[in-house]
Amino acid sequence: MKHPLQLAEFHLTVANDAQLPPPGPPEIAFAGRSNAGKSSAINALANRTRLAFTSKTPGRTQQINFFRLRNGALLADLPGYGYAAVPQALKRHWQEFLARYLATRQSLVGLVLVVDARHGLADLDRRLLAGYFPSGRPVLVLATKVDKFTASAQGGARRAIERDIAGEFPFHAAQVAVVAFSATRHIGIPAAEAILASWLGETTSDAGAPAPGDRKEKAPRSRGVTRGPKNPR
Ligand code: GDP
Repeated sequence: MKHPLQLAEFHLTVANDAQLPPPGPPEIAFAGRSNAGKSSAINALANRTRLAFTSKTPGRTQQINFFRLRNGALLADLPGYGYAAVPQALKRHWQEFLARYLATRQSLVGLVLVVDARHGLADLDRRLLAGYFPSGRPVLVLATKVDKFTASAQGGARRAIERDIAGEFPFHAAQVAVVAFSATRHIGIPAAEAILASWLGETTSDAGAPAPGDRKEKAPRSRGVTRGPKNPR
């Protein structure tokens, strides 16, 4: 599947565990701090302007939006976390919900963590990863907003995040791929798509010539990234 998120359609909004659809088709979750650039990343990968809503009021959308991909897989757009003005109790509620979802969701095949490349991993990102890694499933870190760096500094920003993860989670570094990304400049899209397609059991390499707008970069080598179990039980 060359562009796994293209033609994604809105499917469902849920506000608590009970409303989650029964686990079925493979699911990819997108998470990140509020304002990291998660909605913009989803929209860029879907080649749409308003599939996921970029928020003018960060932290206000406390719900999961599910999108259906064209092969039937689901994308779960998890609520952004870490916004200071959200009441403490609500923050805790969502942090617990996210931790539970990421640790136990049977149909999850991978987590996309959107991180502002200028700031690197936040404490909440680390906590979320710590809860998720034992599942053995892969993580794609989109180090986004790299357009804010010079071209030569973009690789350095990506490697800083890789080093950070390897230092903090030495036993899980092989589960992680970090891609330098920009939604506004369309950097890293083919590399991210190749990884998402591999999680969905598809390949992007047999799809012929690059689509307009594709940059010439290659997907990072897999570095031992494992696919999540198809039907973990
Ligand atoms: P979310 O809260 O994580 O969904 O973040 P949004 O996608 O709403 O983006 C937050 C802010 O960052 C908005 O002002 C976006 O325009 C900006 N932004 C998002 N992605 C990029 C990017 O790749 N480059 C730049 N320069 N700005 C971005």
